[in-house]
Amino acid sequence: MSDPFNLAEGLAEKKQQHLYRKRLEVQSPQGSEIKVEGRDYLNFCSNDYLGLANHPDLVQSFKDAANRYGVGSGASHLINGHSSAHQNLELELAEFTGRDRALLFSTGYMANLGVISALCGRNDAVFEDRLNHASLIDAALLSRATLKRYRHNDCAHLEETLRHTKGNRKLVVTDGVFSMDGDLAPVPELASVTQQHQAWLMVDDAHGIGFLGAKGSGTLEQFNLPQQEVPILMGTLGKALGTFGAFIAGSEELIETLIQNARTYIYTTALPPAVAAATRTSLGLIKTEPWRRQHLAELISTFRSGAERIGLNLMPSLTPIQPLHVGDAKQAIEISEELRRAGFLISAIRPPTVPEGTSRLRITLTAGHTDQHIAALLEALDKACSNRNLSANL
Ligand SMILES: *Cc1c(COP(=O)(O)O)cnc(C)c1O
Repeated sequence: MSDPFNLAEGLAEKKQQHLYRKRLEVQSPQGSEIKVEGRDYLNFCSNDYLGLANHPDLVQSFKDAANRYGVGSGASHLINGHSSAHQNLELELAEFTGRDRALLFSTGYMANLGVISALCGRNDAVFEDRLNHASLIDAALLSRATLKRYRHNDCAHLEETLRHTKGNRKLVVTDGVFSMDGDLAPVPELASVTQQHQAWLMVDDAHGIGFLGAKGSGTLEQFNLPQQEVPILMGTLGKALGTFGAFIAGSEELIETLIQNARTYIYTTALPPAVAAATRTSLGLIKTEPWRRQHLAELISTFRSGAERIGLNLMPSLTPIQPLHVGDAKQAIEISEELRRAGFLISAIRPPTVPEGTSRLRITLTAGHTDQHIAALLEALDKACSNRNLSANL
């Protein structure tokens, strides 16, 4: 067979480096228990932090909206795909996040590409944390602005980089909660450094929204940072909110600029209206049922104190993302496979998703878990890690 791009060689190399990726075939809804390829597992790898992805109220509003609007939105937002379901959700997201306006995008990846490439171009500069999500890095590359990456959560390094980098517009971009580490960005300090340099700050709160803050509206609520201090907020709907899609929230002028200029907003079909309708139900549950956040916070603290007792190498995180540092990619895979044989679904995260030598098990907890689930998880981790001399070796 002709293979001018040497694909076979590239794939063989990935396998040999233990970096080859495979998909699982899931046969049940998301939940704390999940069926994969004929077997039931305890699920510790989804981003469905509040356990809403299969909530009966969301399913019902999705069905009702499908009856009312059909399935497809039929067009982009600027043609005639923008329904009342989208419009109402945008109003509610703006209120929820305390911003003037919000604008829906079809995915978080597209929201990030859209906003950064609409705001920055060749003569501008984008500053990003080294551990930012891949979509934020791709967004800066697409914009053709100068891209500078500062050391993880290092405001002094950011300050120095801002001082030494030329650019008409300067945009600083950070994850609110880092997706593979679970720690928070020091957003108040980032906001003040950014303001000193007449730059703008954007926070991608894919993993904070729905969980952090008294109302669950995310990292910026937790730090009490209004729109004047963090002018650009991105949130996703596919994680804690349990549905699909994303939004940008900020000033009237920001949102109108995106409607005019963000290519991933303009040149794509609007989300199905039923997805927007189900997301409104999800926001309603977040408002009226704070017990999910409280229960999840309790599970996180139970898990961390249990892990400490048995000497597990947890990374410092107070969010539902509780990574266990392993280091070597091969060993991370082996532990993940051993846990799978024991009935636990936990993914091994390897380069290039995380830096070389920092492979880890990315354990995620959700409001759907119970104390019994956590106890079973700790026992399985203890067994898998003590066999390999992995305990407390950081
Ligand atoms: C998941 C994620 C995204 C992408 O969101 P999608 O809606 O899944 O495309 C962007 N940023 C971060 C930090 C994420 O974790």
